[in-house]
Amino acid sequence: MLHYRRAALGGLRQRPLLGSPGSLLILEHCVSCNPAASSRVRLPARSAHGSQLLSTCYRKGAVPVLSAFSNDIAIDLGTSNTLVYMKGKGVVVREPSIVAINKKTDKVEAVGKEAKEMLGRTPGHIVAVRPLKDGVIADFEVTEQMLSYFIRRVHNRRFLVRPRIIIGVPSGITKVEERAVRDTAYRAKASEVYLLEEAMSAAIGAGLPITEPSGNLIVDIGGGTTDVAVISMAGIVYSRSIRVGGNELDEALINYIKRNYNLLIGERTAENIKMELGSAYPLEQELDLEIKGRDLIEGVPKTVTVTDREIREALSEPISTIVDAVRMALERTPPELSADFVDKGIVLTGGGALIRNLDVRLREETGVPVTITEDPLSTVVLGVGRVLDDIDLLRRVCLP
Ligand code: ADP
Ligand code: MG
Repeated sequence: MLHYRRAALGGLRQRPLLGSPGSLLILEHCVSCNPAASSRVRLPARSAHGSQLLSTCYRKGAVPVLSAFSNDIAIDLGTSNTLVYMKGKGVVVREPSIVAINKKTDKVEAVGKEAKEMLGRTPGHIVAVRPLKDGVIADFEVTEQMLSYFIRRVHNRRFLVRPRIIIGVPSGITKVEERAVRDTAYRAKASEVYLLEEAMSAAIGAGLPITEPSGNLIVDIGGGTTDVAVISMAGIVYSRSIRVGGNELDEALINYIKRNYNLLIGERTAENIKMELGSAYPLEQELDLEIKGRDLIEGVPKTVTVTDREIREALSEPISTIVDAVRMALERTPPELSADFVDKGIVLTGGGALIRNLDVRLREETGVPVTITEDPLSTVVLGVGRVLDDIDLLRRVCLP
């Protein structure tokens, strides 16, 4: 694969963006690939590609020309799930952000679903690690290994390609963390890296009119955090991230079952119960579920039946915290923007948006209409993907 250091049109160093399809492009090879050479290529027939290629050359000075168009990827690096979107292909990876590592050899044993299966079931020397915690990278090395794995996978390990990567990152990320994510992506063989705040990505993915001067309130309930943000004119007017999300709900369930039934259940069982029975407001039809765990006193496997009412009670505290965060956003938003919410409402996304009747509860408590995005687990990555396809939007919304 070739890299090019500098691009010029027809030999003249004019602003490359002016290049039209079919015009001659002279490229000087990247010194590390091919020191002395330069070559001439015709611009691709499609102007979008042509100008994109040129603007990329112009901005960065070194791009993998052969792979620049088709291999670009958008990533939602979530606490619970990592999703990868590829231009023209849609969502190509949807896996838990978990890596299983063999501590004897320091080797990665499994990544994603396979690693999640191992959670709580591994022999002593294999540990299943969640490299992202509370919306930030807790273990850089493992995050890098995970990212590289997914990037390699989407490129079918064909050959070494260096894609342009846009990554959705938590809105409250510090400069140091930002730097770490960028470095991680570069080490995972990216040619260019852009960061986009998750709240912005979610709003774009939800199809909200973010560039207009009107308020959009988006609530993203992920695994580690709930992010509430108000967006107007392609900027974030208000944002707050609380460290309460799906994982906290699972923990609340584990504790409830332990306290009320003397039954010990694992993380994955708790998550299943939450998905099957979890609700934030009474359901029209009552539900119940048999759950299996280990009796705390006898130490033997035991089965009990729980109802949706009990599970609602178990989840009530963390759910109230989430509802309060939304109320606070409504209180803190400038009045002109909050007036917009009365008509446009609140948009709920992230896996946590799937908890039954959370929308009903929020509507009840805030008096504002609530909608849930079409596919809450993919909204962020679809938003990042849209930015990947739209270079003007990319310039407007990506972090500097
Ligand atoms: P992140 O962005 O942090 O990776 P996601 O948006 O992928 O998080 O959401 C993951 C969270 O959503 C997990 O805590 C998961 O248990 C929860 N979740 C997924 N599906 C459902 C569901 N149907 N009901 C309730 N919670 C769900
Ligand atoms: Mg997320």
